[in-house]
Amino acid sequence: MIEVRDPATLEVVGSVPAQGAAEVDAAVAASRAAFQDWRWVSANERADLLHEAAGRTAAAADDLVGLLGREQGKPRSEQEEEIEWTATPLRYYAELARNGRGRVLPSGEPRSQLNLVLKQPLGVVAAIAPWNYPLLLASWKVAPALAAGNTVILKPSELTPLATIEWVRRCFDHLPEGVLQVVTGYGAQAGDALVRHPGVRMVAMTGSVATGQAIASVAAPMMKRLHLELGGKDAFVVAPDADPAAAVEALAYAGMLNAGQVCTSAERAYVPAALHDEIVDRLAATVGGLRLGHGLAEGTDLGPLINAPGRDKVERHVADAVARGARVVTGGRRPEGLPGWFYEPTVLVGVDHDMAIMTEETFGPTIPVMPYRDIGEAIDWVNASPYGLGATLRSTDPATIKRFYEEVEVGTVWINDPLTDNYAGPFGGTKMTGGARELGEEGLDAFLDTKHVHWDLSDRPKDWWYPY
Ligand code: NAD
Repeated sequence: MIEVRDPATLEVVGSVPAQGAAEVDAAVAASRAAFQDWRWVSANERADLLHEAAGRTAAAADDLVGLLGREQGKPRSEQEEEIEWTATPLRYYAELARNGRGRVLPSGEPRSQLNLVLKQPLGVVAAIAPWNYPLLLASWKVAPALAAGNTVILKPSELTPLATIEWVRRCFDHLPEGVLQVVTGYGAQAGDALVRHPGVRMVAMTGSVATGQAIASVAAPMMKRLHLELGGKDAFVVAPDADPAAAVEALAYAGMLNAGQVCTSAERAYVPAALHDEIVDRLAATVGGLRLGHGLAEGTDLGPLINAPGRDKVERHVADAVARGARVVTGGRRPEGLPGWFYEPTVLVGVDHDMAIMTEETFGPTIPVMPYRDIGEAIDWVNASPYGLGATLRSTDPATIKRFYEEVEVGTVWINDPLTDNYAGPFGGTKMTGGARELGEEGLDAFLDTKHVHWDLSDRPKDWWYPY
């Protein structure tokens, strides 16, 4: 069994089986059997079933929030948003798939031939989720995969399996048996067994680059379809024309949401040299005033980090920066009197690109701020990262905005309003972040196979056949 701990109190709040190859074998067999019928369920009927799941998700919100609050730790309002964002893709993909289309092409022999492009389900999909948004990121895979007619085996993170199990049990038990299953366990056991299983046609995973590489090294030689949403080092750029006060509010939100444990957290800020001191002062005042506490407690702005290795990494990055000459303006240590994996919201100045905190994913409540000379320099710095997930710009100048969104090497750009999602549009990254796109039409297409049918309606031999 794997014990699940509350990261704010370190109490054990549940346990799940550490499953492996044997349980995965059984799950894949059940999933393959279920696919034989599920693929022929009409898109309209599947849509109704997914709408029902969305309604049940919303109705289960209170219980799911309680579980998420204990195993993951984000503040209550963020948990409530997560449940809402978990239900919405079920509705969105129900409708998108209901309106799914292939194509009929002009053919070489228009009187007697048809060319059809079909969009078909693949079969068994393994959906592997991380711990930072356990339900939301599961839903971004489960909803399109099921809507497309696949069957799904979902593996939650071993750190946050409890809300996921409850979600699937409560909200999907009206689906035919085997269509959606959960396996629990460690990545290197349950996760790896799913990736290796020849009966699994596709692996959709959100997580770190290292895990993405481990999965790709197994799945690529098997020619499995891979859908990898990996880490980032997102930059937040304040343009010279931006209002510093509003920019700071946006930056504090983008850097501190979920204690900085968002794949698109603002992990480095570039500001005009002339505005640097004002922005740093305002930022220190804003984030220094955030209240740390248990996610389920009233008045909490910031929960804990997920575990000891998570906090160790943040401490290592801050210590490395300070050793290389950076200065902590606020935060930079563990708070007193809180038993969990807390770390104070932190602002650093005097940073440069030799420091891990400016180049590696920190995944914590830290905002290092660096001044730039001109916007071209800031864009070059954005692009110097091996990651390519998102980037934010604060500006109202059209020329600056256009230059920024044209030139930055990322999959998601926010102008002025960071970290918003729109279910009708794709989310994802490029470069080492992996090329997958979730949400939008792209997020459904990822779970469909394309088949081109060449159909001659006659059975007459052709004059280009043998003998010439
Ligand atoms: P992780 O890579 O440690 O784990 C992700 C999942 O993969 C877990 O379920 C884990 O058990 C599983 N896993 C681990 N090793 C495996 C293996 N060898 N084979 C199969 N499965 C395996 O990531 P995490 O710590 O849970 O999540 C944080 C990371 O996720 C960060 O790097 C963050 O940037 C990234 N992330 C990316 C996005 C995005 O959309 N790009 C969104 C959220 C989080």
